[in-house]
Amino acid sequence: MLRLSTLFLRTLRDDPADAEVPSHKLLVRAGYVRRVAPGMYSWLPLGLAVLANVERVVREEMQAIGSQEVHFPALIPREIFEVSGRWSDYGDLLFRLQDRKDADYLLAPTHEELFTLLVKGEYSSYKDYPLSLFQIQTKYRDEARPRAGILRGREFVMKDSYSFDLTDAGLETSYKAHRDAYERIFTRLGFDYRIVFAVSGAMGGSASEEFLAPAASGEDTFVQCTNCDYAANTEAVEIALPPQPARGTDAAEHPAEQVLDTPDTPTIDTLVTRLNELGLRDEPFAASDTLKNVVLRTQAPGTHDWELLVVGVPGDRDVDLKRLGGQLEPTIVEQAGPDDLATQPGLVKGYIGPQVLADLKVRYLVDPLVVPGSAWVTGANTDGKHAAFVVRGRDFEPDGEIGAVEIRDGDHCVRCGHELRLARGIELGHVFQLGRKYAETFGLTALDQNGKPVTVTMGSYGVGVTRAVAALAEQTYDDKGLCWPKGIGPADVHLVATGKDDTVFDAAETLAAELESAGLRVMYDDRRGVSPGVKFKDAELIGVPVIAIVGKGLVDGVIEVRDRRSDERDQVAVDAAADAIVALAR
Ligand code: ATP
Ligand code: MG
Repeated sequence: MLRLSTLFLRTLRDDPADAEVPSHKLLVRAGYVRRVAPGMYSWLPLGLAVLANVERVVREEMQAIGSQEVHFPALIPREIFEVSGRWSDYGDLLFRLQDRKDADYLLAPTHEELFTLLVKGEYSSYKDYPLSLFQIQTKYRDEARPRAGILRGREFVMKDSYSFDLTDAGLETSYKAHRDAYERIFTRLGFDYRIVFAVSGAMGGSASEEFLAPAASGEDTFVQCTNCDYAANTEAVEIALPPQPARGTDAAEHPAEQVLDTPDTPTIDTLVTRLNELGLRDEPFAASDTLKNVVLRTQAPGTHDWELLVVGVPGDRDVDLKRLGGQLEPTIVEQAGPDDLATQPGLVKGYIGPQVLADLKVRYLVDPLVVPGSAWVTGANTDGKHAAFVVRGRDFEPDGEIGAVEIRDGDHCVRCGHELRLARGIELGHVFQLGRKYAETFGLTALDQNGKPVTVTMGSYGVGVTRAVAALAEQTYDDKGLCWPKGIGPADVHLVATGKDDTVFDAAETLAAELESAGLRVMYDDRRGVSPGVKFKDAELIGVPVIAIVGKGLVDGVIEVRDRRSDERDQVAVDAAADAIVALAR
């Protein structure tokens, strides 16, 4: 029983100054966590109770699919991460440190290397497979923007698991088992969640899906089709190409490239106005007929050099840097500055066109909306001049395509053509087919029936355990405070005794014992000399799903039972109170 008279808990009336999102404010105010430094938190008894509940659900569902729990050190020698290349690939995200002999170590941001090495050390025959292992362990990432409290920590708890199979079909089966387990986990935790297509980021690999909790404060943007079940992180989304009669798809159809005098057209709008004055064709030009070339710079992992990258998108669209970043990871991408541009005098600011990029040896990628054979108005690489009828495949050839445009509400679904809707979400978990990358790197093979070595194929699956606590708070809080789903909060019932009368406290004590023996986790506000108003406010802030009040009503033989979420209140006879509370709390 959690007795508030002795519980290590101080609730705060005011929001912490550094808190940006509701879950952060409330978890601090309700005494669940305390900040130590940016992205680093201490867990107090209430917070730890919720964390333990989340861990329990995760552990049970992992065990239910036959995954076995192990535990690795967080401190790892550099050599292991050198083999995988991630000592440098992880860049500034990695916490690096030295022991007394000056040997290099890191605090693991994730544990692919150790899982692979562990299995390699123990197993050698096809008979040993398939295998699934998991751990619930603390990870370290020196996040650039540790924000939103424990939603994005620099130290956080993750459940990470790996499946080991000998065949692609086996990996498929293991992946499906994990995906199903994740559905059970997030359903049991009481989440509203979506499964969306994702990019696999620094890890490489093929099938990749994220479990997102829709929330305004989420850092991920995803789309959902209004008609079919297509849903994708915007980093991974594909959108349907709109019909493009004006721009065409057949290079031979277009007139020859034509250079135009377009002085004083610094923006797309001024350019479009000028184009329509020139009367090059019957239909008017629109921003979407222009090709905008955005100069970025990239830095490959392990290098300190920046390289220019130009990305071409239709002029009515912006480039989404986060979307690009997600696809280029672990390469870093950002806007190029004047110094970067100065390295390439051939790039004329405001008038860049792709016609010269190959000669300048500047890498050029286009969004898929710039289809092969389409014609564009774009820069002519001379001050004050643009060019019309610049055709992909005739006048320029990009080095490749990349989903670069900012996705808009109302863009069309690549599967069914209906409109997509944008929303924000918090990434709760990630499942993906890692494939043979780590097994090849570390030589994880098994001897098949004929004694021939085959390379193992792996799946990688993560759940943000500490993040799940904050995400759940984020999805369920209301204007009074936290509001935990049943079974996940720090208690099942919050019993409040009010007044000065000993009989009230005696009755509450008896009821608390009864509830406990009925199997409920009971929080009991047995504080003397604290006003009912303060006790109610605390109960609402702490967010246990059922609140029972033993107080004024006791002289009439009743106890008040409240549903924290709906605020429905019932006066229940003392004798029937335990049953009523148990019924509501389950
Ligand atoms: P993000 O895109 O949010 O940085 P990620 O893709 O790097 O996350 P993974 O490497 O897939 O994350 O880690 C698995 C899970 O761990 C994520 O789905 C997320 O729930 C959680 N997680 C990742 N980074 C953090 C963090 N800094 N703080 C808390 N939880 C995290
Ligand atoms: Mg991820």
